[in-house]
Amino acid sequence: MRSWNGWGDEGDTTSLGGGGRKLLESSLGPGRPPREATLAEVVGAVPPSRLEPVEELHVTTDAEMRVRRARGQSLPDLAALRYGRLEAVPDAVARPVETSDVRALIDHARSVGARLIPYGGGTSVVGGVSARPGPDPLITVDLGGLVGVRNVDGQSGLVSVLAGTTGPALATLLAGHGLVIGHEPQSWELATVGGWVAARGSGLKSLGAGRIEQLFAGGTLEAPAGTLAMQPYPASAAGPDLRQLVLGSEGRLGILTEATLRASPNPEVEGMAAWALPAWPAAVDAVRQLVQTRPGLSLLRLSTLAETRTLLAFAEKPAQTRALGAYIRARRLPADWVLVLCGVAGRRRTAKAAADEAKAVLGGHGGIRLPALAAAWSKTRFRSPYLRNALWSAGYASDTLETATDWAHVPGLLARIEAALGSALAPWGETVHVFTHLSHLYPSGSSLYITYIFRLAPDPDETMARWRALKAAASQTIRADGATISHHHGVGVDHAPYLADEKGPLGMAALRAVVRTFDPDGMMNPGVLLADDPG
Ligand SMILES: Cc1cc2nc3c(=O)[nH]c(=O)nc-3n(C[C@H](O)[C@H](O)[C@H](O)COP(=O)(O)OP(=O)(O)OC[C@H]3O[C@@H](n4cnc5c(N)ncnc54)[C@H](O)[C@@H]3O)c2cc1C
Repeated sequence: MRSWNGWGDEGDTTSLGGGGRKLLESSLGPGRPPREATLAEVVGAVPPSRLEPVEELHVTTDAEMRVRRARGQSLPDLAALRYGRLEAVPDAVARPVETSDVRALIDHARSVGARLIPYGGGTSVVGGVSARPGPDPLITVDLGGLVGVRNVDGQSGLVSVLAGTTGPALATLLAGHGLVIGHEPQSWELATVGGWVAARGSGLKSLGAGRIEQLFAGGTLEAPAGTLAMQPYPASAAGPDLRQLVLGSEGRLGILTEATLRASPNPEVEGMAAWALPAWPAAVDAVRQLVQTRPGLSLLRLSTLAETRTLLAFAEKPAQTRALGAYIRARRLPADWVLVLCGVAGRRRTAKAAADEAKAVLGGHGGIRLPALAAAWSKTRFRSPYLRNALWSAGYASDTLETATDWAHVPGLLARIEAALGSALAPWGETVHVFTHLSHLYPSGSSLYITYIFRLAPDPDETMARWRALKAAASQTIRADGATISHHHGVGVDHAPYLADEKGPLGMAALRAVVRTFDPDGMMNPGVLLADDPG
C-alpha cells in the first residue's frame, strides 16, 4: 500500500544507516525526532465535504481518500502530513476510468461550482497538487484509473498512452513491442505520463532520450473551454506549436487524458560508468568538454566534493566504501576527488564510441574508473527518495531544488546558492548540510541540483519558517543570477512568486491570456503556476 505521508510503499524500512547519521550529527547536531500524526487522527479531523458523491462519475467524499490525495511530495506537503496539519483537503476525489469521464467531470464541476486539481502520481515537489483553502469546493482528479497503451505505431516509433500510466507500467506494456520511452525521473515508480508532460520534467537519462518536450509528440487535452487534439507531427511550421503550451501547463489549461510519446528501440546495450576526477574545477571542465563533443551518452552527472562525500557516507556498505578509499589512494588521486557518472545506451557500436569518447576526455583530465561504485549506484538509484522518510523520522528535513544556467555562470551560481542556503538558518543558530550535482548537461550549460538537509525544530511552525527562509534564500539567489527558477520540477505554488521575474510582464500577460482561453472561469488548479491569479 502506498504511504499516505511520505514517499513510496508503506512497508518500506529504509533506515538512515550509521554513516549518514554520523555525518548529519557532526554537521547539524543530533536530530530531534518529531511526534508524527497517525492516519486515524488526520482522517478524524477532516471537515465535512461541501460536495455530494457521484457514483457514475467515480466521485467519492470518503475522508481517508480525501486525505490520501490532499498533498504531493514537496517539503511543505510532507510536513503537513507528518505533523497532521493539513490546512485543506479536497472536498471530493474523482477517479475517472474512461477518458470520456473527464469531460463529464469538468461539466459536473462547473455545475456545482467546484475547482479541479489534476493529480497524476502526486509526486510534485513544488505544491502542484496540494489542496489549498478557498471559498469554492475542490475536487482532486486522480488520473490513476486511466492506465494503458492505446496504440503502438512501431514504424514511426509513436506510442499513445493514457495519462495515468506510470513509468514501470508503461515499460511493462511496451516490453513486447521492443520499445522504450527513456524518460526515467527518480520518481519513476509513482509519477505518470500526464505528470511528466504537465510538469515538463527531465529523466535521469535525458542526455540520450531527451527531455519530455522532445518525447511528447501529441495527445488530447480536455479543457473547460473544449477539447484540444494535438497531432503527433514530427515537426511543423504551422505557427507556434500548441504542444509547447501544454508542456509545463501544470493542470492550469485542462486535463491531459492521453499522450503520444516518441519511443526508441530497446537498447542493444546499456551501461554505466563511475569515474573519480581529481578535483572540482577540472571535473567541470571535463564534463563540459565531453557534452560539447555530443558523444551520444545517455547520462552524465557530476557531484561536488560535498555530494561525493555525502553519497559515500550514506552508502549502505561501509566495507565497500573503505575499499574504495584505499583504491583511490593507491591510484594517487587527491582526497578532494569528485564523482562523475556516465551512462551509455543504444546500438552496441554507437554506445562503444560514446564510452570511448568519455574515457578519452575523463581519463585525459586525470580521472580513473570506479567499477564497483557504478554497479552500486545503478542498483540503488531509485532508493534514495525513501531516505527522506527515514531522515524525517530521525529529526531532519531534506529538500531539493534545481535550476539551469549557461556554463559561464555555473561555478558562480553554484557557490552563491550553496552560500545562501548555508547561512539561511543563522537567525536560529542552525547549520545546513548542502550538496550539489550537475544533473542534466547541455552543450550550452547545465542544470544544478541541490540538496539541503536541516534539523526539524521542536515547533512545527518554526520548522516551516526555517524551510521558507531556505527556499527564499535560494530562489532569490537563482533569480538574481538570471538563472531559471526551475529546470525540471516545475513552478507549482512554491516557485510561482518568482515566475513573473523570469517571464517579464508581457510573458506573464500572455500566459494569463492562454489560461483564460482554455479555462475562462478559472476552474483548473488555482494558485499553481500563476501566483497572483485569483483563479
Ligand atoms: C523523490 C522524487 C524524485 C523526483 N525526480 C524527478 C526527476 O528526476 N525528474 C523530474 O522531472 N521530476 C522529478 N520529480 C518531480 C515529479 O516527480 C515530476 O514533476 C513528475 O513528472 C510529476 O508526475 P506526477 O504524475 O506525479 O504528477 P503530479 O505530481 O500528480 O502533478 C504534477 C503537476 O502536473 C499536473 N498534472 C498531473 N497530471 C496531469 C494531467 N494528466 N493533465 C494535466 N495536468 C496534470 C498536476 O496538477 C500538477 O500541477 C521528483 C519528485 C520526487 C518526489
